[in-house]
Amino acid sequence: MKLNINNTFSEELPSDPILENSRRQVRNACFSYVTPKKTRNPEILHVSEEMSKELGLSKEDAQSEEFLQIMTGNKVIEQTKPYAMHYGGHQFGNWAGQLGDGRAINLAEVVHNSNRWAIQLKGAGETPYSRNADGLAVLRSSIREYLCSEAMYHLGVPTTRVLSLAITGDQVLRDVLYNGNAAYEKGAVVCRVAPSFIRFGNFEILAAHGDHKNLKLLADYTIKHFYPEIKVSGKEAYIALLSEISKRSLKMVIDWQRVGFVHGVMNTDNMSILGLTIDYGPYGWLEDYDLGWTPNTTDSQFKRYKYGTQPEIVLWNLYQLANALYPLIEETDSLEKVLNDYQETYTKAYVNMMITKIGLFFYQENDHLLIQDLEELLQLSETDMTIFFRNLANFEKGKTSNWYAIINDSFYNLHDIENDIKNRWNTWFLKYNTRLKKEQMGDKERKDRMNSINPKYVLRNYMAQLAIDNADKGDYNLIDELYQMLKNPYNEQPKYDKWFAKRPDWARNKIGCSMLSCSS
Ligand code: AMP
Ligand code: MG
Repeated sequence: MKLNINNTFSEELPSDPILENSRRQVRNACFSYVTPKKTRNPEILHVSEEMSKELGLSKEDAQSEEFLQIMTGNKVIEQTKPYAMHYGGHQFGNWAGQLGDGRAINLAEVVHNSNRWAIQLKGAGETPYSRNADGLAVLRSSIREYLCSEAMYHLGVPTTRVLSLAITGDQVLRDVLYNGNAAYEKGAVVCRVAPSFIRFGNFEILAAHGDHKNLKLLADYTIKHFYPEIKVSGKEAYIALLSEISKRSLKMVIDWQRVGFVHGVMNTDNMSILGLTIDYGPYGWLEDYDLGWTPNTTDSQFKRYKYGTQPEIVLWNLYQLANALYPLIEETDSLEKVLNDYQETYTKAYVNMMITKIGLFFYQENDHLLIQDLEELLQLSETDMTIFFRNLANFEKGKTSNWYAIINDSFYNLHDIENDIKNRWNTWFLKYNTRLKKEQMGDKERKDRMNSINPKYVLRNYMAQLAIDNADKGDYNLIDELYQMLKNPYNEQPKYDKWFAKRPDWARNKIGCSMLSCSS
């Protein structure tokens, strides 16, 4: 197995001089060297063929003993020194101090076809940043991260990727509900891949320590490798950096809203500096459309990270990043301008995205009202988001009386739809029809375009849970079935029709389906 290793993060940025793997506060460094923990009886459960190819690996490579040993922590890639990154973060609105890679260990960077990829193992053991936890991951959360990363990639949502999913043969103790009922679960390691795993928190921790020298080094490093389009220098460069990060983060969160993804823990340590979805924990997919929904039970009281507020939380997080970059700029006006731009663009970008979901591709006056009405109705009648938008594409101009037949499959409680709500839906469809008549596009073309934006198959919460339940019993087939299906989320795939269905009743209030904890 030959990987084209080309390390930059660990070569160009300062390391923690202490080499002992003990939990501690790290100063004046961007990372700490640490070796992954050896695993007892590792077994690869799945490999992403697409990601292997991106790294220049063949099928045989991915099946080799060397691959197994490297991707589960038992062997270090020759001439590399694995490391954990130093970062801090704001968690649920409060500064949390040092966090860091408590259970992720970076193996190396690989360059293939001119693309740079950092490879890291999640769940590979303790690091100086593990605080009071074990540095390990369980199969349950690893399956969730594995499947969702690739599903998001195929949906066209910016995301970190995965290369492999493995069990370690070790047992890991977890208290899923934090109620004193800890139990052993299968340990697992996911190999994650991204151009870089730098987070907002990597900048915040250096600013918090007043370490402006390394703050500048990290900002310059980020621009040089990941924002080469920034040609200006000095303060201008750091303002441009914030602006570019803000644009990418906006694109990411608008995509989340489009597909109904709720991250669940949008702390600043979980915000990628490249605008990638990162750290799949207690995330969830909207089933019935509900702006107030969050899957994360830890957030059930205040619902800070609920679906409807995700774009605003990105802005809040960008404020923290702006504060962290301030020492390099020492002037607030231009930073504020970037943040104000986000605010303005986001409202427009959101409406523009939503109108495409209903098949309108150029904004016209009052389209936002059509969307507002729709959002209200979707919530009044407990409507499945994915099924609604997918089936709406079957609407034909002029045939307003068909509306019920087209969308009724998306209602969770058909009997509960009162006449009043039915009348409102009817009125909405009349307005929608009037608006569609102003478009040149025919029904067929509109349908095709809508279907390329509104997925048919998403990783519903209960689907991941079924794969987990089977895997706990030693049956890993469903992982591959879902993986294969989610490679083509926008295509009709008749053999997977059973997955184009509403959440079953048993999953409505089940742990792991509608309620997730951070325990992973
Ligand atoms: P999260 O909110 O899950 O992204 O994690 C927040 C912080 O906790 C990060 O610094 C993680 O590395 C750390 N962390 C989470 N789980 C573990 C674990 N099992 N062992 C060590 N550190 C962990
Ligand atoms: Mg995290």
